[in-house]
Amino acid sequence: MNPTAPRGGKSATNGTRSRRGHSILSEMHHLCEAEGTPVDALYDMHCHLGFAANSAQAGAIAAAAHIGALSCTVTPEEFAARGAAGGVGGGGADGGAGRCSGSPVTWALGLHPWYVAENWRPQVEAFEALMPQVRAFGEVGLDFSARHQGSADAQMAAFHHLLQAIVARARQSATPPMLSLHAVRSADAVLEALRKTGALENCQVVLHWFSGSGEELAAARQAGCYFSVGPHMLASRRGRAYGAQIPLSKLLLETDEPPQGAVLDGAAWRSQLEGALEQLATLRRTDAAELGATVAATSRQLLGLGR
Ligand SMILES: [Zn+2]
Repeated sequence: MNPTAPRGGKSATNGTRSRRGHSILSEMHHLCEAEGTPVDALYDMHCHLGFAANSAQAGAIAAAAHIGALSCTVTPEEFAARGAAGGVGGGGADGGAGRCSGSPVTWALGLHPWYVAENWRPQVEAFEALMPQVRAFGEVGLDFSARHQGSADAQMAAFHHLLQAIVARARQSATPPMLSLHAVRSADAVLEALRKTGALENCQVVLHWFSGSGEELAAARQAGCYFSVGPHMLASRRGRAYGAQIPLSKLLLETDEPPQGAVLDGAAWRSQLEGALEQLATLRRTDAAELGATVAATSRQLLGLGR
C-alpha cells in the first residue's frame, strides 16, 4: 500500500481487459513452447490477496488466470491467520508453481509501517516467531508522509529490528530471502537501514511502487535493488519516467491490489498486469512479449522457482 497516489483508476475488481492482452498471452505461449520455459505466467510481485473478500480462493483464482503472486501481509497476525487457513503452504510457493498450467502464491510475512504500534516490541516478537516459516518478507519499510510521521520513531526502531532478524537468518540460509519494501518519503532512510544491517548483501531487495526522488532512484539502482511497478505508479508522470529508467534485469510487475474487502477477479487482475506490462514496453520502446518473458524470469528467480 502506498498513500501518496490516489487509488482511483482501474482496480483488480473493475479493470477492463487490455486491448492486446490475448495477443500477449499467445505470443508468450509461443515463447514458452519455443524455449521450453514456462513464461506465460505473469507475476504480481506485490499484492494483498489477504484483503480480498474471497481470499480463501486466491490460489485457485491465480492458477486459473496464470498469475504467480507474492502476496504481502501487513501484520504478523494477518500472516498467521493466513497460515491457519491453510494458505501459506510452508511459506513457499504452491504446488505447480509458475508452470504454464499452474500458478504460485507465495505469502510474505510483513509488518507494514502504517500498522507499527507505539509499543512495537510485541509485534516484532510475533514477526520473529513466524520467521522460520517463510522465505519472503513484506510489506515492511518506512512511511514519513505527513499522515504517518507521528510514528516515525517507532517505525524506524521496528524496521531496524526486523532487518537485523531477517539478515541474521539470511546469513544461515542457502538462498537469500526476498524483501518487498514500502518507502514513502523515506527512500534515503530505508536504503541507509538496509546498508547498516547488511540487508543489501544478504537479501534480494525489492522497492515497491517507488516514489522517491531521482537521486534516491539512482542510489537504489546503485545498491542493486529491484523495483516492482504497476498501474498506480504508472499513473504519474514521474512513475512513468522511472518505469523507463529501471534496469531491465531489476524490473518487476505489481498491482498492490485488491483493496480491503474487494472481490478478487482473475480476469481483471490479469488485465491490470498486462496493462502495466504493455505500458512499460511502450515507455521502454520494446516488445511486450519479450519484456514479459524477461520480467517473468526475474520474478521466478526471486521466488525461488527456477528459470
Ligand atoms: Zn502494499
